[in-house]
Amino acid sequence: MSDASAAPAPAPAPAPAAETNPSDFIRDFVAEDLQSGRFSYVHTRFPPEPNGWLHIGHAKAISVVFGVASQFKGKCNLRFDDTNPEKEDLSYVEAIKRDVKWLGYDWEDREYYASDYYEYLYELALKLIRKGVAYVDDLSDEEMRVYRGTAVADKHNITDTPPGKNSPWRDRSVEENLDLFARMRAGEFPDGARTLRAKIDMAHPNLVMRDPVMYRLRRMPHYRVGDAWCIYPMYDFQHPLSDAKEGITHSLCSLEYEIHRPLYDWFIQQAEVFPSRQIEFARLNVSRTVLSKRWLLQLVNEKRVSGWDDPRMPTISGLRRRGYTPESIRDFMSRIGVAKTDSMVDVALLEHCLREDLNKKADRVMAVLKPLKLIVENWPEGRVEELDAVNNPEDPSAGTRKVAFTRELWIERDDFQEIPPPKYFRLFPGNSVRLRYAYIVTCTGFDKDPATGEITAVRCTCDPETKGGNAPDNKKVKGTIHWVSAESFVPLQARLYDYLFSVERPMDVESGHSFMENLNPDSLQIVDGAVGESSLASAAPGARFQFERVGYFVRDSDDAGGKPVFNRAVSLRDTWAKIEKKGGA
Ligand code: ATP
Ligand code: MG
Repeated sequence: MSDASAAPAPAPAPAPAAETNPSDFIRDFVAEDLQSGRFSYVHTRFPPEPNGWLHIGHAKAISVVFGVASQFKGKCNLRFDDTNPEKEDLSYVEAIKRDVKWLGYDWEDREYYASDYYEYLYELALKLIRKGVAYVDDLSDEEMRVYRGTAVADKHNITDTPPGKNSPWRDRSVEENLDLFARMRAGEFPDGARTLRAKIDMAHPNLVMRDPVMYRLRRMPHYRVGDAWCIYPMYDFQHPLSDAKEGITHSLCSLEYEIHRPLYDWFIQQAEVFPSRQIEFARLNVSRTVLSKRWLLQLVNEKRVSGWDDPRMPTISGLRRRGYTPESIRDFMSRIGVAKTDSMVDVALLEHCLREDLNKKADRVMAVLKPLKLIVENWPEGRVEELDAVNNPEDPSAGTRKVAFTRELWIERDDFQEIPPPKYFRLFPGNSVRLRYAYIVTCTGFDKDPATGEITAVRCTCDPETKGGNAPDNKKVKGTIHWVSAESFVPLQARLYDYLFSVERPMDVESGHSFMENLNPDSLQIVDGAVGESSLASAAPGARFQFERVGYFVRDSDDAGGKPVFNRAVSLRDTWAKIEKKGGA
């Protein structure tokens, strides 16, 4: 159904070029570097690993790196950090490129792959061996962990661990190291038998600096270079040197790389290459979702969602299918800003940004989710009147359309009550309401199935003097309801989404428990008997609407038994505005 690989989604329309993102503290660093002469230009990069689809956390990184480049009239590369053959794939490369473009960012012809740098990286590894700062080690993974002290390290504190101890192979001669490393590349040793390590300091307080591995043996075809290599560079070695190769001035990344920065600098210094500078910023966390490819992949693999682009996923493709606009995502990024400490952003803010954007852009239409027949008794059978309806009160250029008014109409089941509760201003016997764009009607009665007690139709008369919904001065009408002609409509399926997780922080679980236990069992509600104005039949996938009084919806590329499917992007009720009012924002 929604497995994107089976049925490719239509190409998303590119967004207009993105505006810059106000990232003050990064801007100050960069400005200082230009002033001091450390750099004479600004060049950043977005370095995704093609092992999953982009999520909204990546959108933050993208807005920061492209934003800083454009603030300083510099450039930004798209570089695939593809040095791990196990999980990488071309389909991810394609999905990533599509999503970055859709968000409104343009890397022009600057598309690079770390896998194109293997020979260059190998040469630099040789240079480090010759300088005596890299060696071939024969310790197994497990032994290495013990020697480094990783085995005893507290996972939250890896900068204050008792000193590790040197590997017995640490003092091999340069010649022996050169010979062994060449033979590693030639495939003479089995996977796991040897590694190339940087010779730094096994007592360093920062575990990252305790002779990190630079290369490992791994016999596995790579999606781009095939079987050309059986040794693969590690991220910490590859990343700074790839940055340097591209002349990247500011290597902007999320905060978890902060403890790797001394190593980043060490490799650049030892390799004597372009002095790229790493600057970290806070990772984006959004409430009621998870933002890590690993967890998202697990949701996909365990079929908790229909795919990476399930409209409940925080992926860019999921948000797009949910009805998000690139502008709303960029607006969100500029509102949250870029800080130096991690925090959790309320998902209500993201929804608020979407509502604000769709309020300006989305055409209004009428659709009824749970239809109940309304019979206008004084309207002649067969008479159809075409009434004018405003497409978007926020945008006069959106014009008007015709909606058919007929004797039989559909209204929401909730908009009628046999016995009205207090302050109920919609239909009940004897009461009058305005039918949006049409007439004021007065309820004269209703039909009930005697067996089930279910209301099967509501009856009313219409006041012909009130065309367009204008009430005469002597008539008080408090309620306005929406409707669809029961003689001219399109049946549709509405998918109503709720949060994927029922708690604010799904990853906060006691040990032995999984975040999956926090999944919201009611995150998808399928409404099959909905109806809409006939104009909705021709809505293209991706077209967004406000279903009046119901919510914002987007046409999905799925059909449900011939019926068009509409996903609810967001409801009309703005919880963020309330939070803001209370001073909680
Ligand atoms: P994940 O944790 O989802 O697996 P990752 O960091 O491994 O993500 P990469 O493909 O390596 O994924 O990420 C590319 C860039 O996006 C990195 O520079 C990383 O710092 C940044 N990034 C990833 N997640 C976030 C986030 N939640 N907030 C801000 N930046 C992020
Ligand atoms: Mg990563």
